Amino acid sequence: MTTHLPRRALLGAAAVLATPVPLRAQAAARLVVIGGGFGGASAVSFARRTYPDVQVTLVEPQTRFVTCPYGNLLIGGERQLAQITYTYDGLRARGVNVIHDRAAGIDAAVKRVRLAGGQTLDYDRLILSPGIAIRWGAIEGYDQAAAEVMPHGWIPADGSQTLLLRRQLEAMADGGVVGFAIPANPFRCPPGPYERISMVAQYLKRHKPRSKILALDAKEGFSKQGLFQDGWRALYGDMIEWVPGNRDGRVVKVDPREGVLETEFGTRHKVAVANVIPPQSAASIAIEAGLANDTGWVPVNTRTFEARAAQGIHVIGDANIPGPMPKSGFIANTTSKQAVASAIALHRGQTPPEAVYFNTCYSHVGAEYGISVVNIFRPNADGTAIAEVPNSGGVSPRGDLPEQRRLEATYADAWYDSITRSMFG
Ligand SMILES: Cc1cc2nc3c(=O)[nH]c(=O)nc-3n(C[C@H](O)[C@H](O)[C@H](O)COP(=O)(O)OP(=O)(O)OC[C@H]3O[C@@H](n4cnc5c(N)ncnc54)[C@H](O)[C@@H]3O)c2cc1C
Repeated sequence: MTTHLPRRALLGAAAVLATPVPLRAQAAARLVVIGGGFGGASAVSFARRTYPDVQVTLVEPQTRFVTCPYGNLLIGGERQLAQITYTYDGLRARGVNVIHDRAAGIDAAVKRVRLAGGQTLDYDRLILSPGIAIRWGAIEGYDQAAAEVMPHGWIPADGSQTLLLRRQLEAMADGGVVGFAIPANPFRCPPGPYERISMVAQYLKRHKPRSKILALDAKEGFSKQGLFQDGWRALYGDMIEWVPGNRDGRVVKVDPREGVLETEFGTRHKVAVANVIPPQSAASIAIEAGLANDTGWVPVNTRTFEARAAQGIHVIGDANIPGPMPKSGFIANTTSKQAVASAIALHRGQTPPEAVYFNTCYSHVGAEYGISVVNIFRPNADGTAIAEVPNSGGVSPRGDLPEQRRLEATYADAWYDSITRSMFG
């Protein structure tokens, strides 16, 4: 803000500077974060620990956050909803100003966020981590009403979609077919559908062993495919049939009343329970703010996560599209720290830090059968590109290794405990 001083006041400027009044340049930087999930909660938590002089505000409509990770274990009967639900009390206790409201608009020109409740928030730097939206209608017949019959369970919100799927499995007669519709890349959590298939299979094996799973996939291959398929055979025999896109696996239409999933070449699969995981985009606030391109995702500088379309707004988590990095909670958490450090550095006129990002995605094939994939990514100096570090990362070893699988399941539990504690604890 510019203040116009009278001439006499300007002449006395040296005396004014000598007095210990706070100057505008010394005011605490205002960091506003939209979305209190994996990216946003990690960002505010890191900001409070690392930059005590920065004012940190979090805008999140929900008072409780249900994690997607371990949601599949809820479906398999290995977790209860309360075990994957978190409040924002811990962040508040650490000094984060938590506002439970929905961001309704962003004015990048004047650096202001408008909330649905009418309040406005001025920021020096904005971090946006609003997650994904479902592309309703991308599969013909799949709208909000259809999702109440054929749940997606891909945006947990209050957990009701995940619980609906679980209740449908409980109500299903033994011998029924559980159908999956799985989208093309990119989408939230590349191994997520296959972990879900595994957990549904585990539930069926225990409670409805004559049932089958039909997994209709728009893709021709998937994350940790060999490891998943080894585990499926070992644990579930021939219960799971996976149909790739090049063998008519792409679901293009659903009929919730008839319980039908229809594929590209017109094959109609009647199923007892359907889990439709539809195509996705960045959440609506990112699109309405004009940050997404025609892919529906937000291109960002790969070093600072600043949106290509707006200075001062850093977009992290699943809403962005930084090259080959997967849309995972781990990546949202890792990159949130780089985004905060870059935002503060840029606000102070400093150079953002160098970066390397790593990702580990664990999946449960059975309750005591874990597998994983590790990737390491490095952005280039000016943030125009990002690439996987050559010869880095990899997947769990294949073979008949029961102790390795048991250990990896416990590593997954430890990962979940530590990431949620670092976000909300
Ligand atoms: C079944 C399943 C299993 C998964 N398992 C794993 C796993 O094992 N490991 C892993 O690393 N990842 C996993 N993931 C992926 C992980 O959940 C996501 O990558 C992660 O949640 C992305 O973080 P985010 O911050 O972008 O979005 P989210 O965590 O979804 O958070 C977005 C938040 O923004 C809020 N929001 C939205 N719009 C607004 C607005 N206008 N104003 C204010 N707030 C808003 C929402 O309410 C929400 O709380 C899994 C995903 C699924 C579906």
